[in-house]
Amino acid sequence: MGEETISRNFIEQEIDRDLAEGVYTEVCTRFPPEPNGYLHIGHAKSILLNYGLSQKYDGTFHLRFDDTNPTKEDTEYVESIKEDVKWLGANWKEHLYFASDYFDVMYECALKLIKKGKAYVCDLSAEEIREYRGTLTEPGKNSPYRGRTVEENLALFEAMKNGEYKDGEKVLRAKIDMASPNINMRDPVIYRVARMSHHNTGDKWCIYPMYDFAHPIEDAVEKITHSICTLEFEDHRPLYDWVVKECEFDPAPRQIEFAKLYLTNVVTGKRYIKKLVQDGVVDGWDDPRLVSIAALRRRGFTPESIRMFVEMCGVSKSQSSVDYAMLEHCIREDLKLKRPRMMAVLHPIKLVIDNYPEGEVEYLEVDNNMENPELGTRKVPFCRELYIERDDFMIEPPKKYFRLFPGNEVRLMHAYFVTCQSFETDEDGNVTVVHCTYDPETKCGTGFTGRKVKGTIHWVAAPYAKPAQVRLYENLVDEEKGVYNKEDGSLNLNPNSLEVLENCYVEDSFDSAEGCDSFQFVRNGYFCIDSKDSAPGQLVFNRIVSLKSSFRLPK
Ligand code: ATP
Ligand code: MG
Repeated sequence: MGEETISRNFIEQEIDRDLAEGVYTEVCTRFPPEPNGYLHIGHAKSILLNYGLSQKYDGTFHLRFDDTNPTKEDTEYVESIKEDVKWLGANWKEHLYFASDYFDVMYECALKLIKKGKAYVCDLSAEEIREYRGTLTEPGKNSPYRGRTVEENLALFEAMKNGEYKDGEKVLRAKIDMASPNINMRDPVIYRVARMSHHNTGDKWCIYPMYDFAHPIEDAVEKITHSICTLEFEDHRPLYDWVVKECEFDPAPRQIEFAKLYLTNVVTGKRYIKKLVQDGVVDGWDDPRLVSIAALRRRGFTPESIRMFVEMCGVSKSQSSVDYAMLEHCIREDLKLKRPRMMAVLHPIKLVIDNYPEGEVEYLEVDNNMENPELGTRKVPFCRELYIERDDFMIEPPKKYFRLFPGNEVRLMHAYFVTCQSFETDEDGNVTVVHCTYDPETKCGTGFTGRKVKGTIHWVAAPYAKPAQVRLYENLVDEEKGVYNKEDGSLNLNPNSLEVLENCYVEDSFDSAEGCDSFQFVRNGYFCIDSKDSAPGQLVFNRIVSLKSSFRLPK
């Protein structure tokens, strides 16, 4: 391999140092989703970051479901998360874990803390605990139960476990420092009573560990070296380190925080996406207007494009929002050379070439992608009756309109020059048919006349084209107003986020693009076959992204 010229991000620098100092001999990272919804683009960043580090350092990557919080039905989410992580290319191999499998270990850890005098059972209510906790400027007050003996605490904790108390009646708290400047260190609750069934452990437990206690134990049990999480956990790090140390894990995992990925004018956050799904605003978790990974996949994004995007975003410690246009830039870049460029007409009107022999058809050989000869060529049928885009014809054109209008000559892409001779309208004055004549001498590549035309329009052969439904998307959120309404916190939805076009026609050349589920439709953008609703004979396409971009690469 050549010299490494790419500068290392701050996480890599930390890892380099740990390895150099012998703190760890190898690297082990994890992605720890809570199975309470589908993953989104922000999680993709975390997955690719953690997996990427394990690859770079020839280490191990774990997928761990953080299912310590008992909730109802999680299997749908577990399956979807596995599918998404796999699709992104992160391979956990045999390292698939469930945090709930560690409930026994966590219980043992709690006992250890009690025996060391580092945890106590507290009878204060949630409300009282909050009052005693103090504020950022005032220290907290010790709980009156803080002085319980080890024996008393062991007996009470055992009784908690045996179901002798109601939910919220007693908690187990770490005994740290009620005067700590870090509120997380003021005797945090580490176990609570909750009479809930757990999808994995059933009714075995009626006490459940709190996240800040459970997470470091999960990492330590799996011998994770670098526990990478987002910035909101920075203030929790002292507690993380405390738990690992007092529970006597060695080697100790190390928490490193980075800034979450946010996109401007896009709904991220499982909670918010879930609400859109539940309220029926979108058609499920994979509605192509969402940025869940399932939705991006259905919309036609590729894992490569998401990897490119995440790399462009980089990792940092400062919070910022990335423009959605950057994600669009990445998918265009990824598909540009990989996908065939086909012709499809989204708003068709008929064009008849009056001097082209009736019943005749010729097959024009066309490059699948002018910029990438490796994609080969295909044969496109051409005949007397075609469809063209409605806005490629005007009766009375404005200045600088170079497409079809009476008397004007244009190039039909890959085919001949045609001149508009006349048109037909319905009783409301809408154009229904455009009549042209063609010049046989202008056939692409064979007889060039030296004559120039300013406009080139695309087309499909009417008798051969396949009908299709095409779905065009705009941002789900009203970009002018921003994501949330300032007054009531509701979402500012864009009423035009989905436009369904029923009578579109696409070129009948899919065989030559075998195995391909996305295409460039010339002049209209990149499109993919909708994985849910499309069927042979009933094609449905999603527009992934238009061709035009306002996005400029950051310097
Ligand atoms: P959400 O707020 O969307 O529900 P979460 O953080 O609650 O996200 P988890 O399932 O708990 O979701 O997160 C799994 C991992 O993904 C965590 O390590 C978390 O830090 C990371 N993560 C979540 N959102 C983002 C984001 N926007 N950018 C980067 N990483 C993220
Ligand atoms: Mg969460």
